Amino acid sequence: MNKRGRLIVLSGPSGVGKGTVLARYREEHPGVRLSISATTRAPRPGEADGEHYFFLSREQFEERIARGGMLEWAQYNNNYYGTPRDYVERALEAGEDVVLEIEVQGAMKVREQLPEALLVFVMPPSFGELRRRLCGRGTEDPETIRGRLCAAARELAHAHEYDYIVINDTVESAASTLSRVLDGARDLVKYN
Ligand code: 5GP
Repeated sequence: MNKRGRLIVLSGPSGVGKGTVLARYREEHPGVRLSISATTRAPRPGEADGEHYFFLSREQFEERIARGGMLEWAQYNNNYYGTPRDYVERALEAGEDVVLEIEVQGAMKVREQLPEALLVFVMPPSFGELRRRLCGRGTEDPETIRGRLCAAARELAHAHEYDYIVINDTVESAASTLSRVLDGARDLVKYN
């Protein structure tokens, strides 16, 4: 029988670059699966259904919650976000490691249900640098940036609840720290 895979949760404030770090990490670890979340928010330009997210209506999302189809879910910016349970369960059973890139409330719900999950928080080197990265995207207006910085401050306050903190100073070094953390944690037994 296969050894069950590991569930890895990656969180961090918007703009910290966790998606980029994860993509770099997965270049070296192509076997690691990435769960595709469901959301009720509208697709951004370039986002495809079933690739970046499963885009659902509120009714569809609530129906999924009601039938236990979500491993975890949370409301963020007035939208639902959640992890479809089936894909994750099947991959873990098949012995594959799975990464969830989710926000803090969802991460805590995962921990309640699956205490063996590894929770990693990606930090910016400083708050000023996070502001620079958010402004540098050039895609959001000042009001949205302010909202994201407030949300970031709230999220950063939860970093200590995670098993590991990875500082994203450069993508290379953060991806390499993530590798060392996840490889090093392979044989550890978690007690929390
Ligand atoms: P965005 O709208 O920018 O794609 O995502 C907003 C936030 O929702 C990000 O912090 C992202 O990590 C988080 N998120 C994405 N998918 C999920 C999910 O399935 N569950 C939870 N709890 N958060 C998610």
